[in-house]
Amino acid sequence: MVTTHSHAVVNGTVILPDRLIEDGIVVWSGQHITYVGRRKRLPDKTQITDAHGGLIAPGFVDLHVHGGAGSDFMDATVPDVLTACRAHLHHGTTTLFPTTTTGSRDNIQQMLEACRAARAQIRRNPRLGAAIAGVHLYGPYFAEDKAGCHDKTACRSPAHDDFATWFTSRLVRIATCAAELPGAADFYRTAARRRCLITCGHSNASWSEMQSAFEAGMRHVDHFWCAMSSVPSLRQRFGTPMQGSMAEFVLMNADMSTEVIADGCHLAPELLEFAFRMKGPHRLCLVTDCNRALDLPPGNYVFGNRNAGTPFHSDGNVGWATSGSLASAVKGMDHMVRHMAQNTSANLPDCFRMASLTPAERSGLSKITGSLSPGKLADLLILNHELYVQQVFARGTEVTSI
Ligand SMILES: [Zn+2]
Ligand SMILES: [Zn+2]
Repeated sequence: MVTTHSHAVVNGTVILPDRLIEDGIVVWSGQHITYVGRRKRLPDKTQITDAHGGLIAPGFVDLHVHGGAGSDFMDATVPDVLTACRAHLHHGTTTLFPTTTTGSRDNIQQMLEACRAARAQIRRNPRLGAAIAGVHLYGPYFAEDKAGCHDKTACRSPAHDDFATWFTSRLVRIATCAAELPGAADFYRTAARRRCLITCGHSNASWSEMQSAFEAGMRHVDHFWCAMSSVPSLRQRFGTPMQGSMAEFVLMNADMSTEVIADGCHLAPELLEFAFRMKGPHRLCLVTDCNRALDLPPGNYVFGNRNAGTPFHSDGNVGWATSGSLASAVKGMDHMVRHMAQNTSANLPDCFRMASLTPAERSGLSKITGSLSPGKLADLLILNHELYVQQVFARGTEVTSI
């Protein structure tokens, strides 16, 4: 008879969504957690990993990520998808949503197919990379005046013929569209039928356009303050009386969540503190919005597909578009959590919640991952007290030892 031995991480501080357990342990058998709590006597055959007094935390969940280690998901080959997934695994992300940009219809279709194939390989072997929970259909439905680092000429309005096949792939789990575009309501309703997390981003939407989007199922806004409407930007669109923007809509509506790029380059500490205090850890997610330059030296790279994307420069801390504006991040989720912990009043449980359970809840994954809880997947990290990742376990398998 084959018996599955238990594995335990001991001698660390366990990080739960709402509190810490000093001298705690996490035990699992096969892929699933069986016990989380105070140290206790374990059966003799338990395989023990010593956390050496460090932190035992849930693996990160990234809703918004473009690539890493030289590959962009829009390169749309299986090796490129695996390269990016593996790079983020080493930074503590055990689940992610490969995120599209403003590519052609064929490019996005190829990206979906590459992600499907890579997902199957990672399911068989967790060492290959962070699990792919689904694709974030992000571009191409952006407002031209809020395209940011994306190719403006490839921004377009959603047309059913364009997006229907992407949704029938069943891979799309997060769906972004600028709320003011013609066809946005149709896009949102289609995404709602597929039970996606629906988000508005790269948008100059007004309050009333956000209200209509909300009624069609939209519940999240991409990278708060970046490429989104503000009262002054709407004044340019509509004149006076001045109108409420995406910012006010998100801040006033308790059902709306959002995300911040906490790399220290996109937003000053007071804005991270403001977002945390206004939305709280249940409605604010940390995302990396990381491009292919993760773990690579400063230099010139391409955002999106390497043959058809837009050039940018990485200075080692952040990406820069040729226009001089920011072009997404070059850091992993471990960096974002460290930056929040060091620069805001968010405590450790809150900082980790925003990078694990909250994104898992918003994307419908919280029954299977996102926190250290019996029954969930054994997706967990050992970190030192400076919040650097020491070891990663994905679905119970040790996938990296640094
Ligand atoms: Zn963006
Ligand atoms: Zn992005």
